[in-house]
Amino acid sequence: MKITIIGTGYVGLVTGACFSEVGHNVICVDCDAQKIELLQGGGIPIYEPGLEELVARNVASGRLSFTASTAEGVEKSDVIFIAVPTPPLDDGAVDLSFIEFVAREIAACMTSYKVIVDKSTVPVKTGEKVEETIKRYCKADCEFDVVSNPEFLREGFAVDDLMNPDRVVIGSTSDRANEAMQKIYQPFNAPIVFTDINSAELIKHAANSFLAMKISYINAVAAICEASGANVEEVANGIGMDDRIGRRFLNASLGFGGSCFPKDLSAFIRISDDLGYDFGLLKEVQKINASQMDRFVKKITDTLWVLKGKTIGVLGLAFKQNTDDVRMSPAIDLCNRLIKEGAFLRVYDPKAMDKAKMVLPDGDVLFVDDMNEVSIGCDALVVATEWPEFKQLDLVKSKEVMTVPIIFDGRNLLDPALVEKLGFTYISIGR
Ligand code: NAD
Repeated sequence: MKITIIGTGYVGLVTGACFSEVGHNVICVDCDAQKIELLQGGGIPIYEPGLEELVARNVASGRLSFTASTAEGVEKSDVIFIAVPTPPLDDGAVDLSFIEFVAREIAACMTSYKVIVDKSTVPVKTGEKVEETIKRYCKADCEFDVVSNPEFLREGFAVDDLMNPDRVVIGSTSDRANEAMQKIYQPFNAPIVFTDINSAELIKHAANSFLAMKISYINAVAAICEASGANVEEVANGIGMDDRIGRRFLNASLGFGGSCFPKDLSAFIRISDDLGYDFGLLKEVQKINASQMDRFVKKITDTLWVLKGKTIGVLGLAFKQNTDDVRMSPAIDLCNRLIKEGAFLRVYDPKAMDKAKMVLPDGDVLFVDDMNEVSIGCDALVVATEWPEFKQLDLVKSKEVMTVPIIFDGRNLLDPALVEKLGFTYISIGR
């Protein structure tokens, strides 16, 4: 199939690379000319395990190319995917201006039948608006179909998720479009859910909100564990062995973040409000998530008393392991709160240092190149992202170089018995 993807970010680039890997011819378009130049020159703008090799291989085979011209992408392909941002507005609603703009751009240069597929996460009924917009702005009198194909990849595991999806959701009532979509996804051997556009759009918001709810649920249970002396990990294991519940997404932590969960949760609450339903359950999920970070910061201030003039080491800046993405990262939020209290930070992340440098204030933070050097002169060390390599931290050396041996583990990554045996004061979540 000849496929164009408009928006070459975390979703667009990985999708393009995976589609070309299974034999399709893919053009990735982006309005960021610098990004396109970097990709054309063999560079990669994001970190995602396995992506660099995948892109290089498919560029070399001639199946994957990059352009800043939407017109070129629309002209050369039969199926056009939209993977542009849908950021939150201040009131929790979704900013759909990127989608609307791209719909007009596609319409302006369409001269033959196209399948236009929305991969961005959008509120239910957006497909109808995209269809209206394309009809209104299409100069040539050509046929087209709009399809909703929400994406469920996890950053940090995006290549694997796209190559081996649990399911593919295709929202469309057109046989012609469904046939094209089936051809695109057939090589992936995944179950396909064919449904209508509105249901497909809703599936994405309902899925992400459910996962966020699971995280907030275990975080609330962690608070009860702390108050009662129970251990949240034992409880999560016991709950998770029930097939109806499952163990995944039951890890207590300082809360969820990233560019999707907080935004999609607010959006779903707002969408429900607009449709006349007060989704109080999801409002509580948001509230628990916010209070989880407050509770964690309180543990730090309760222990260290005054943060002004103290040095705190922070391990992890990305919003989760295996990514360089710091958008809405709880680790960054935590850093800003500690800085606001007057602390000086020594920070390290295996992949997200460059992106974190752009968002953390100059002067209050020292970026350290080696995780084992972070603790030098620190009054406390905080684990803020669950990078597996932090388990290999040289704790004996860390204890020697710290001013005071205290660890706050916001991801329950370290083994409490081991850390305490080495003489640290160790404070984690719900255990
Ligand atoms: P991103 O910011 O990484 O990438 C978006 C890209 O679109 C950017 O490179 C930007 O320059 C480009 N762009 C913006 N306007 C454009 C235009 N008019 N023409 C061409 N390019 C344009 O965003 P992302 O994380 O890839 O997310 C894209 C969508 O996918 C969002 O709706 C998001 O909610 C959804 N989504 C994201 C993830 C994730 O884990 N990141 C997972 C599933 C779904």
